[in-house]
Amino acid sequence: MSTTRRSPLLSPPRGPVPRPTNWDDEDDDELPGSPLGKSWLRYVPLTLALTLMLAPHPSLLIVLVNYHLRVLHSPSRFLTHLLVTYTLTFCAVSSLIVILARDPGPVPSPKRSEAPDSESSSMDFAQALLDTEDDEPLIRTQGKWCRKCVAPKPERSHHCSSCGRCVLKMDHHCYWLGDKCIGHRNYSAFVHFLTCVSLLSIYIACLCVQAVYFAFTNPLAIDENTPLHDIYLAFYGIIMTLVIGSFWTYHLYLTTTNQTTIENISPYLLLRHLPPLPPQTSTRQKLSDPPLEHELTYPQRRLVRDAHYQLKIYDVGWKRNWAQVMGWSRPRGWMYRLWLGGGGKGDGRTFPHNPRAEPLLTRLAAELVSIDKNQ
Ligand SMILES: [Zn+2]
Ligand SMILES: [Zn+2]
Repeated sequence: MSTTRRSPLLSPPRGPVPRPTNWDDEDDDELPGSPLGKSWLRYVPLTLALTLMLAPHPSLLIVLVNYHLRVLHSPSRFLTHLLVTYTLTFCAVSSLIVILARDPGPVPSPKRSEAPDSESSSMDFAQALLDTEDDEPLIRTQGKWCRKCVAPKPERSHHCSSCGRCVLKMDHHCYWLGDKCIGHRNYSAFVHFLTCVSLLSIYIACLCVQAVYFAFTNPLAIDENTPLHDIYLAFYGIIMTLVIGSFWTYHLYLTTTNQTTIENISPYLLLRHLPPLPPQTSTRQKLSDPPLEHELTYPQRRLVRDAHYQLKIYDVGWKRNWAQVMGWSRPRGWMYRLWLGGGGKGDGRTFPHNPRAEPLLTRLAAELVSIDKNQ
């Protein structure tokens, strides 16, 4: 006998519809919707970023030709510097294209994966609750549900208000790079982009500081315009090194410790990973299980922040952390990533946990209850 799906309207459930206990009650991304909306204005920051990237190149060519070819008479240095700067520029542009072209991390719908030919792209949540025969994976999905997408919310995914959807392993929403999210599928390209731009800035800064020094010590050996380009590029390189380089260093740290920006700046996300709390005997307001941020007292908040400082839930050693992002565990995988960036390894829904996490979280859960009792 074939099983047909029951309509929720025709066969209402017996008793009250259970409210899912795994709603994500906390807003992941409290940013308001994109101030630029969907208009062409959203591409203005991207155009500005591209202009900032490409604007120094005419000056760079003038310096390379005038200083290295005409003054120093060194074609080998000219070719070396030309090759390095334009290889880094090519790599930066290629990873930028990957960032813009790839979806940052769509959250797959179990419904759609089970019925790929279905024309319905959205599912009513009541239907998901009421159907019990063939929607088992949807109802029993471990983890959170997104209130806004009305869909399962895999581990490390977050809802982006600007994009209006959940993104796998969301890092942040970037207005500068096409007003889109950086997530599981384009994070390695993002790190690659920052690396190329930072190295290019450092290289140009070093090259031009040296050229400025030469121009001041040998004023008659060089024409009057080249030092102006030298000074402009030296300042430009130093400023870009400080701005993009600090951002790059931060993301190197995040990748080495296997954190996203959201996880790094939100210590209370740790509460989602807590095991069941021990029995609470305090006369004060009892904590929910898992506790919510607004329920915590000041000492409890301090405990969570200290634990967040000590424990990186997904840190499985720097080599494996980098391999997760850059795909270095594959033979010659790093070569592809070196040129194009690309997406992270795995399905973006499950991640290995730090082996130290479980005992530390159990201790944190016990301390959260006991510290309140001791007040
Ligand atoms: Zn969502
Ligand atoms: Zn977004």
